[in-house]
Order: sequence, then C-alpha cells, then structure tokens
Amino acid sequence: MIKCEVCGKELIIPYKCKYCGGYFCVEHHLPEKHNCPGLVRGKWKYEPIQYREKSFIIKPSFKPQSIYRKKLYFSRREIVNLLISIFLVGAIYISNYLFLIISYNRIALILSILIGSILAFILHELAHKFIAINYGLRAEYTTSKMGILLTAISIIPFLPIRIIAPGYVKIISYKYDKSIYGRIALAGPLTNIILAILFILLSKIHHSLMLASLINIDIAFFNIMPFPILDGSHIIKWNIKIWILAMISTLLLWFLCHIIT
Ligand SMILES: [Zn+2]
Ligand SMILES: [Zn+2]
Ligand SMILES: [Zn+2]
Repeated sequence: MIKCEVCGKELIIPYKCKYCGGYFCVEHHLPEKHNCPGLVRGKWKYEPIQYREKSFIIKPSFKPQSIYRKKLYFSRREIVNLLISIFLVGAIYISNYLFLIISYNRIALILSILIGSILAFILHELAHKFIAINYGLRAEYTTSKMGILLTAISIIPFLPIRIIAPGYVKIISYKYDKSIYGRIALAGPLTNIILAILFILLSKIHHSLMLASLINIDIAFFNIMPFPILDGSHIIKWNIKIWILAMISTLLLWFLCHIIT
C-alpha cells in the first residue's frame, strides 16, 4: 500500500505530484502542502515578500509542514539515491587502490578503503543537508544520470582521471544568500578534514587506516577546488579567507599523511 509522504496515511487513491513525483493524500497533494522539492526551479526566480535582507534565515513563502522543520527527513527516493552513490564511491576507491590490494592481499586494506570512502561520502553529504535544514531550508540528496554514468565509468581500474560526483544535495531556497550557501558548502569538506585527522590518529591502532584518511583528504581537496558547482566556489564567494584556510589545512594534512606513511 502506498503511503502519503507527509502524514503516512495509507492511500486507497494516491495523488501523484507532477512536480516531484511523490505520492500524497488528498490533503497533501498540492505542491505547497508538501513543501514540494519540484518547485525549486519555478520558485527560484521569485522573491517572497517575507524575505528581509537583514534577517539571517530565509523564510519560505508558505509555512512548511512541521514534520520537515529542522528535522532530518529522508524520502525513500533519497535513501535509494544515497545507497546507489555509496556503492559507486566504494567501488571507485577499491578500484583506485586495486594495485595495493592485489600486492598485499590484506582484508584490512579493503576494510579501511570501504570505511574511509563510505564515511567520507555520506557524512560529507549529510553535513550539507544538516546545515541547510538548520537554516530552515529543505535539502535533499539527489543523483543525476550524467553524474552516475561518469562515476560508474570511473570505476574502471587504472584510469588517469576519475569523476566522483554521483549526486549532490539539492537545496530548496528562494534566494541565493552567499553567507548561508557558503556555510552549507563548507560543512562538506570540513567534515572530511575532521575525518582525515581522526583517521590519522586511529592509524596508530591499525596502519592501514591511513588510507581512510587519504581518501578523506582526496574528497576534501576535490570539493574545495574553486570550480562552479563544487563546494569551493560557494565558499570563495562567501569568504575567501576561509577558503584559503580550508585549502591550506587540506594540503597540510596531505603532506602529513605522506610523511607518516
Ligand atoms: Zn497526507
Ligand atoms: Zn511535489
Ligand atoms: Zn559537497
């Protein structure tokens, strides 16, 4: 039985939202009744009257369902997207270190790579989502067909270039606020920097955990790059000093890892 994505009521006659594709009950089927993520494109152009330049939190033009407000909420579609991405990212790093795995043939290596890459990916994306929700925005992890395709191709071992971008956290907002988007963007790489430090410390327990640290540094570095779409571009637009600081810490960690190894 299909359930309404807002209230969970079992539906005899489900209403499918033509904007987001979700299923809802009679009460919640209108886009404004379920804080529809499909509305983002249309709404982006409009500035709601409630928006004030001085206020820090962007107020949506309609009252979000209390179920969404400041709560981590995952739709089934989002969980599926996360699982597909986790699988791809794990496979990429296994393939990336294939030479090492074959020559040492140690289960600890494989485990470290999987722990490192899966945590690096999922906590990075969740950090974006969590900070966005904290600012009263709705955020959802979503994949793109192109991103999945390029990421899947990158699993092929010994490729010179890899693209690890199966998806991104889509943020539903009405206006681009540099300081809010900058903070949301920073949360991702910062999570990887913290994880990298943690794994360097944990590598005292088992040396192969250094790989988990390197993977986090890799993902932090890639995302801090100041290219459009990437986290780095949002951080630079917000505060260049913080961007430089993030870049320097990532590079320092990279050197540290290679000195210890
Ligand atoms: Zn409902
Ligand atoms: Zn919808
Ligand atoms: Zn990110």
